[in-house]
Amino acid sequence: MSEAEITSDYVRPRNCVRHVGRFKPILEGLDYHLLQNGHKVERDHLALLRELLVACALHHANKPWNEMTGWTVNLAEPLLNVFTTGDTQNGIVCGRVFTEDVKKPDRSRLHAQTTRPGFPVRESIVEIEGMDPLVWAERFYEKSEQLPARIFRLGEDEYAMVVAHPGWDSKWFARLDAAAVARIPASEELGPLERRDYHFGCGCDATIIRRIVRDSAGGDWDTLFQNDEPLRIVCPRCAAVFYVEHAE
Ligand SMILES: [Zn+2]
Repeated sequence: MSEAEITSDYVRPRNCVRHVGRFKPILEGLDYHLLQNGHKVERDHLALLRELLVACALHHANKPWNEMTGWTVNLAEPLLNVFTTGDTQNGIVCGRVFTEDVKKPDRSRLHAQTTRPGFPVRESIVEIEGMDPLVWAERFYEKSEQLPARIFRLGEDEYAMVVAHPGWDSKWFARLDAAAVARIPASEELGPLERRDYHFGCGCDATIIRRIVRDSAGGDWDTLFQNDEPLRIVCPRCAAVFYVEHAE
């Protein structure tokens, strides 16, 4: 499986970090996953999911390797949930769109849940506007993270995130546009930090899904199966479809 490589460099004179990558492997992985599971996602909704996945991968490239964040964007109009999550240890990002049973909010919001071994779970809720997932992620940084970040579309599948660090050059940071971010390797002194690989993946499989269903059913396991038909279960993280049999 091909990987989307995110390269991270310290932009020394500006006290910022630039993360950049080409995300075709993740986006093609998503397309293949949807095809494989027989899902047809409306074009506009798919566009939101694709770029929220890109932002989610960039966010994970910016965080400690064992930190995981899940973002649920609850949109008021159109009424829709877009979910993404990632895991640097396994080099995966995944997500899905929910169009059914979505609670209508008074305003659109991004709910973030961050977990890291040895740290309490962090939750934050940020009000968002518009239909640009990159702007939603920037808003999350502005409201929930200590330092701001900006995300840019550099090319067809190339994106970059510039994150401020203490003492950052705020004028330079505010003036950045896609062309200036693309020029950074030529115009600034860079200190290489890291390269991380990501692909579209969830980690769910038939055994895990069966265990989750079994645990949540408790003593009602037998009553879940009418006429001994297998249960159709959709993964809450990636919408992969599984058929769980009564007895195996
Ligand atoms: Zn899954």
